[in-house]
Amino acid sequence: MSVATDLRLNFDNSFVRDLPGMFLPWQAAPAPAPELVLLNESLAAELGLDLEALRSPAGVSVLAGNTAPDGAANVAQAYAGHQFGNYVPRLGDGRALLLGELVDTAGRRCDLHFKGSGRTPYARGADGRAALGPMLREYLIGEGMHALGIPTSRALAVVTTGQAVTRDTGSLPGAVLTRVAASHLRVGSFQYARAGADPVMLRALADYAIWRHYPEAAQAPNPYRALLSAVVGAQAALVARWMAVGFVHGVMNTDNVTISGETIDYGPCAFLDAFNPNAVFSSIDEMGRYAYRNQPPITLWNLTRFAESLLPLLDENNEAAVEIARGALDAFADEFEAQWLTLMYTKLGLPVPSGEPVLLNEFLALAAGTRADWTNSFRALAALLREDTAPLAATFDDPAPVLEWAARWRSELPDPVAAAAAMGRVNPVYIPRNHLVEAALAAADAGDLDPARALLEAITRPFDERPGMEAFASGAPDDFGPYRTFCGT
Ligand code: AMP
Ligand code: MG
Repeated sequence: MSVATDLRLNFDNSFVRDLPGMFLPWQAAPAPAPELVLLNESLAAELGLDLEALRSPAGVSVLAGNTAPDGAANVAQAYAGHQFGNYVPRLGDGRALLLGELVDTAGRRCDLHFKGSGRTPYARGADGRAALGPMLREYLIGEGMHALGIPTSRALAVVTTGQAVTRDTGSLPGAVLTRVAASHLRVGSFQYARAGADPVMLRALADYAIWRHYPEAAQAPNPYRALLSAVVGAQAALVARWMAVGFVHGVMNTDNVTISGETIDYGPCAFLDAFNPNAVFSSIDEMGRYAYRNQPPITLWNLTRFAESLLPLLDENNEAAVEIARGALDAFADEFEAQWLTLMYTKLGLPVPSGEPVLLNEFLALAAGTRADWTNSFRALAALLREDTAPLAATFDDPAPVLEWAARWRSELPDPVAAAAAMGRVNPVYIPRNHLVEAALAAADAGDLDPARALLEAITRPFDERPGMEAFASGAPDDFGPYRTFCGT
């Protein structure tokens, strides 16, 4: 039997079938001594894959890129993108490969994709490799995000290659990440198709995106306008969720913005500890373009680039096309606001008010003013409803004004006991804390995966407070930070 049959990899590669011109066939670079580091068993089960076979030498050889399974597409995808506002006409998968598409046990189609599998024709000057730390980071944070209910790509496995990679910090273990995503269609994919000045390719890409992600748009009077509106809605919902959990993506370039509305490309991302709306973690984001508070307006900026790419499809008259695009983009502000208020008032155990969100805004000002821990603030409020003031005192430097605010908040809750329980279901105890992620990655570099596994255990059940796991629920220690993240490319 072939490796693909043993692993139960049943590829159906619609992208290469439908979109010639959007990829180059390519093979992964050989890994001299592959070793399986982490395998995502629950994801493998969802995909209907055979765990034993994946763990076997033949399976690890596939996950390292050494054996191309039968039926695999093996292509590097082409895309363009605005990087920190500067347009780059040809980016593409520089160190990634699309193995192919799988249809999971629930009938959903997803991409199976490598990262760190060697240079491709899109690699520009870079080495095509990935270090173990950043690949484990993508694994940990993606799983944390998934458990928090946030649409995201997910890691299936990380293998070390047995080949070192050289980075600023020295020589590091090399690794290949296998990930799964609803697709890897990006705003940058549309920018690439549009810039190619081949209207057939742009239309084929848009039709493909509709078929794959928004089939209902095909029935609309203007399917491409419906596609644009659907992506606006999906991205508004996504960034609202990031904001509610305090996630800072760090590199919201248009090539890292999906059409599906999933989070992809975990690079220099981080979670807020202390609430600071201006928080920036990435060392290369010198202007704070992708600061926490800028994420919604930057999402709209990115969607505007998407709309520009679609213009020739929206109407044959350019002015009419611009009007259509503007109308679709105008919906972003209201959609984001509605999602954000719903999420935040749910975190406060209240329905969204009909007027101004006064209680929420006051709370945010209090939390920002004292740099309270974002995640723990909401747990501390729920604790107040159980007459436990200790978490609040531990979270806020000056609890007095918060207690004054909380008295008014509490008076709006019809049933404080029910509210405390409901808040416990939406406010996480365990998130991928920056200091814990860094400690887990440092240990993994030294060959110890236990901290990464322990962290995964906590963050994959984020709402389920467990005795003995207090260390995973604490904010960063005082001697940690200011936290800086690096692309790790
Ligand atoms: P990112 O900002 O990490 O999403 O990557 C931006 C672009 O750089 C993409 O085209 C990547 O494929 C490419 N890239 C990043 N790191 C590497 C690397 N080590 N080797 C080759 N290409 C890379
Ligand atoms: Mg990227």
